[in-house]
Amino acid sequence: MIPAAPLPMQPRGWQQAWRASVRDPRELLGLLGLEHEAAAVPEAAVAAFALRVPRSFIARMRHGDRHDPLLRQVLPLDEELRSVPGFGLDAVGDAAAKAGRGVIHKYEGRALLVATGSCAVNCRYCFRRHFPYAEETAAAGGWTGAVAAIAADPTITEVILSGGDPLSLATRKLAELTGLLRDVPHVRRLRIHSRLPVVLPERVDDELLAWLGDLPWPVAVVVHANHANEFDAAVDAAMAALRGTGASLLNQAVLLAGVNDSVDALADLCERGFAAGVLPYYLHQLDRVAGTAHFEVGDDRARALHAALVARLPGYLVPRLVREVPGDASKRAL
Ligand SMILES: *Cc1c(COP(=O)(O)O)cnc(C)c1O
Ligand code: SF4
Repeated sequence: MIPAAPLPMQPRGWQQAWRASVRDPRELLGLLGLEHEAAAVPEAAVAAFALRVPRSFIARMRHGDRHDPLLRQVLPLDEELRSVPGFGLDAVGDAAAKAGRGVIHKYEGRALLVATGSCAVNCRYCFRRHFPYAEETAAAGGWTGAVAAIAADPTITEVILSGGDPLSLATRKLAELTGLLRDVPHVRRLRIHSRLPVVLPERVDDELLAWLGDLPWPVAVVVHANHANEFDAAVDAAMAALRGTGASLLNQAVLLAGVNDSVDALADLCERGFAAGVLPYYLHQLDRVAGTAHFEVGDDRARALHAALVARLPGYLVPRLVREVPGDASKRAL
């Protein structure tokens, strides 16, 4: 067996690993000993939202198991092509909350930057399959429109880097942004939402760590893991390195049918995350986006799962069960 690789030290190691991602469903299934399933992958679903999975994430899937919870998050299925009433294109009302190029200001004190449209992985349940990112990213505008919108509003004390996945940008590009934000006196916190430390832990390299360690604000990194199996030795090392910069680590998961919709799966996720130094933050009900209905867990069942978690785990390991409701002043507790 090949031992888990240490964090790569070459500056562009993670970008090479990202470029080597699997994009062909046949290759993905072949790597898992499931080549006989390839004929069932609908071309139209792949055309609508491409398959993209880093190889180290595939290595964490169970060989020969078509129901693997990591595979289900990335494999295009026929169900995506069904049109289901209530599942639309802008499920979270983002189109109505623009405050500037790539800036969404929906909640008091917090401005969310759609930093980039890129991600290291394409998650089938994601709202991103429809959002018009190409014209909307803050990085595409050289950050200046976004920073101007933040500088013009002294009520904004927290800047949230989101996307897409902000850590899919080069560290140099992120440093450009934080260089500009340093001059905005009312910014007091930086938050980064990213799936990269989990799906492509190679991203947590020396350059990223140096940038994070040098920021003038308290930093929260919210990673997005949906299943305990997403953690392995390389992810543990990435989390430890992130914590070493002084950042607080939180996890946000989406409740997904067939992935983590059992008390055992959710409890394992919370406990495994904590073992890696990550506290649970939110458990999100799915945004009702076209093509994702087969991932939905009903509210009654979601509440029952959450109540069972409360009964089983210490309070600090229980995420808040929430949903995003357009027009609300915060995420809504279920
Ligand atoms: C979810 C979200 C936030 C952050 O909300 P928290 O409850 O602070 O995690 C901020 N802005 C937008 C637009 C969001 O969708
Ligand atoms: S935004 Fe997050 S959930 Fe959506 S595809 Fe990118 S990494 Fe996956």
